[in-house]
Amino acid sequence: MHVLVTGGTGFIGRELVVALVANGHRVSVLSRRAGQMPFREGIHYTGRLDGLRAVDAVINLAGENLAERRWTATRKQQLRDSRIGTTQRLLSWMESLPTPPQTLISGSAIGYYGPRDDSPLDESAAPGEDFAARLCRDWEAEALRAQTLGLRVCTLRTGVVLGRDGGALAKMLPAFRLGGGGPLGNGQQWMSWVRRVDLVRLLIWLLENPHCQGAYNGTAPEPVRNRDFARALAASLRRPALLPMPAPALRLLLGEMAGLLLSGQRVLPTRAQAEGFVFRHPSLAPALSEIVG
Ligand code: NDP
Repeated sequence: MHVLVTGGTGFIGRELVVALVANGHRVSVLSRRAGQMPFREGIHYTGRLDGLRAVDAVINLAGENLAERRWTATRKQQLRDSRIGTTQRLLSWMESLPTPPQTLISGSAIGYYGPRDDSPLDESAAPGEDFAARLCRDWEAEALRAQTLGLRVCTLRTGVVLGRDGGALAKMLPAFRLGGGGPLGNGQQWMSWVRRVDLVRLLIWLLENPHCQGAYNGTAPEPVRNRDFARALAASLRRPALLPMPAPALRLLLGEMAGLLLSGQRVLPTRAQAEGFVFRHPSLAPALSEIVG
């Protein structure tokens, strides 16, 4: 297949495009930095949609990083525009084509469900009401509009992605390596995590299985509480996890964004597992040891 990837230069996307090529697909990456990307066999970087032809499928991951800056009104608008605006542009481009792609796999996040208690959540759970939940809901709604053009659409509600060179772990590791890591707030909140390699496999599974349609949770089958995540990460580094970060300090430091860390969701990949996807890394401790070891 010829697959167009947005966000293909990011933490998830750069591993995805390599895996797509390894699976025999031809890849175009839409990037604001197309001119700066190094040559890679099988991958074509472009800054524009209008020259692209004969695209069979689109994987849409582009979006400003949620955890990079405080959520001011301007930043919130950037977070929305970079996802919903990019998806709108993709749809306008698809509408202009004589033969639109057949499939759209579009990003979303478990923030869709909003802050939750201990109840396990499958894909049928209701959305939340906070900023992140509305962002995910609106992003998914925009992607689903592609169904009116005849596309098969899947949205992937992605958990906290764990991989070697970026994402949440890159932010946590320096403190944990120094023995200064620990739970956030009271540590009771759930963390639904997924190893990047499994998330990439899941994206490709959604792409290659024509029966898949609608929303899927992109999380490992064994979510943990934040306190247990901190313990497992410290243990994988053979360090203590003694220093909790009090909730008021996090709120002072991060503002509204602190809610992402102080609350969580216990999300299960119910649909993917029921439809035959097998996680290679279901349990946290071995996954962390392999990543940081
Ligand atoms: P990164 O921040 O590593 O990469 C984001 C990508 O989006 C970049 O490749 C960039 O492409 C593109 N991008 C950034 N800002 C804009 C913009 N203003 N307009 C157009 N494109 C933009 O993200 P991840 O790889 O970590 O995540 C990919 C998606 O998955 C994101 O939407 C994220 O919200 C979602 N997700 C990620 C999770 C995680 O733990 N990593 C968890 C849940 C959801 P370029 O600079 O080449 O144009």
